[in-house]
Amino acid sequence: MHQWITHAPEETMHFSERLAVFLKPGDVLTLSGDLGAGKTVFTKGLAKGLGIQEMVNSPTFTIVKEYQSGRLPLYHMDVYRISDEEDIGLEDYFDQDGVTVIEWAENIPSWLPDDRLSITIERVNERERTITCKASGSRSKHINEEISNDERASD
Ligand code: ADP
Ligand code: MG
Repeated sequence: MHQWITHAPEETMHFSERLAVFLKPGDVLTLSGDLGAGKTVFTKGLAKGLGIQEMVNSPTFTIVKEYQSGRLPLYHMDVYRISDEEDIGLEDYFDQDGVTVIEWAENIPSWLPDDRLSITIERVNERERTITCKASGSRSKHINEEISNDERASD
C-alpha cells in the first residue's frame, strides 16, 4: 500500500498523469471515494498522461465512455448507479487492448478482475486529498512499485 497527499486538483492530475506512463493494455484501476473526492479529476490527469486529446467528463449517465486518441484506449466507467446484481457486460472491456478506470468500483465487487490497482481518494479539507494505492496481483504490484519509485510523481 502506498500513499500520497495532494494540495490542489492540479497536483492530483499531475500524479495520475505520471501514473499513466506505466500503464499497459488490460490494466484496471478502481477509484473509490466520496462524491467530490476527485475521482474524475484523477481520470482527467490519467487521460492527459495517455495523450488523449478529447475532453474527459464524468460518464455517470452513459456508464462507460471510450477514448481512442491516446497511446492506449481508455475505458472510463462510472458505476455509481449500478449494483452488483446487474450484469451489464463491463468485464468485456478488461481484457481488451485499453486501460480501464472505474469510478465507484466498490458497487460491483463481483465483476472486478483479481489483479487491479485499487485507488482510494479521501478529502482531508477543501483542497487536500490523500491518494492510497493498493495492489492485488502481480501486475498491479508492479505498477504500484513503478509509481512509488517515480520521483516526478510527487513534484
Ligand atoms: P468525484 O469524481 O470523486 O465525484 P470530481 O473529480 O468530480 O469528484 O471533483 C473533485 C472536486 O474537488 C473538484 O471540484 C476539484 O476541483 C476539487 N478539488 C480540490 N482539491 C482537490 C485535490 N487535491 N484533488 C482533486 N480534486 C480537488
Ligand atoms: Mg466523478
